Amino acid sequence: MNYQKILEEIKEEIIPFLKKGKVADYIPALAKVEVDDFAMSIIKLDGTEYNIGSCQKLFSIQSISKVFSFTLSLDLYGKDLYKRVGHEPSGNPFNSLIQLEYEKGIPRNPFINAGAIVTTDTLVSKYKQNTFPTILEFIKKVSGCQTINFDQDIYKSELEHGYRNLALINMMKSFNNIENNTNDVIETYFKQCSIMMNTKQLAKSMLFLANHGTIPNTNEAIVTEPQAKRINSLMLTCGHYDASGDFAFHVGLPGKSGVGGGIVAVVPQKMAICVYSPKLNKQGNSLVGTKALELFTTKTNLSIF
Ligand code: GLN
Repeated sequence: MNYQKILEEIKEEIIPFLKKGKVADYIPALAKVEVDDFAMSIIKLDGTEYNIGSCQKLFSIQSISKVFSFTLSLDLYGKDLYKRVGHEPSGNPFNSLIQLEYEKGIPRNPFINAGAIVTTDTLVSKYKQNTFPTILEFIKKVSGCQTINFDQDIYKSELEHGYRNLALINMMKSFNNIENNTNDVIETYFKQCSIMMNTKQLAKSMLFLANHGTIPNTNEAIVTEPQAKRINSLMLTCGHYDASGDFAFHVGLPGKSGVGGGIVAVVPQKMAICVYSPKLNKQGNSLVGTKALELFTTKTNLSIF
């Protein structure tokens, strides 16, 4: 299959869609991006890469970081983690408070904000002040890139405007589902959201999920095979919030989006993909990114279905 040619076709075919959508501005620093930017990277298990567009450009990974924190927490706590965060799609926006009250402070899944705040709390219980450096080291390892860091301005902007996330963490604290100081946890959560990466680095960082939990080129096991299966299935069912069904319907791959405009997707036993385009659909997922991945699975027949 000529993946480079497929990427070139996709880049042409998404042009009409670049007009649509809106960049996230509820975190003001996130709105300072080139709105028509587009990048897409594919990396196969053998390390062969295909790239198009601004694939070196760093952007805020936002909720894609939830995959990394959940992976670390699952590795530490195993099934016990599900006592504090579920594994069902929420059918609600990523920052919704309503369901959390009904369900007594137990978030539906680790890929909505409340769920990711709980997984970050489990990491703070273990790593204390060293939690963010641990998350960052983990990302450096899985992406094979030592230069990755977070963006101070985006971090500060999230801290200043994170009213909903503060409401979520306080509600969960009231239900005894947050063990640590809420400021310590929310600061770590915002820092992980503010990590900057490009599509090449993000695609590479997902390869262990395409390879039963093991980084292909180093053979290092990150999680067990059953755990990799769970992470992928949660990405499929919950990775796009209340548009997860729509993403499965149109794309048909485990994936995770972030309001920075990135989406990662996993083709089991074959490759990992990352696409970037900052304008979002109503549910907060990259509009062009979703379209590009739909075109990819249509052209290649690489959907899991
Ligand atoms: N930092 C963002 C928030 O907490 C992450 C949301 C997202 O990417 N969906 O609102």
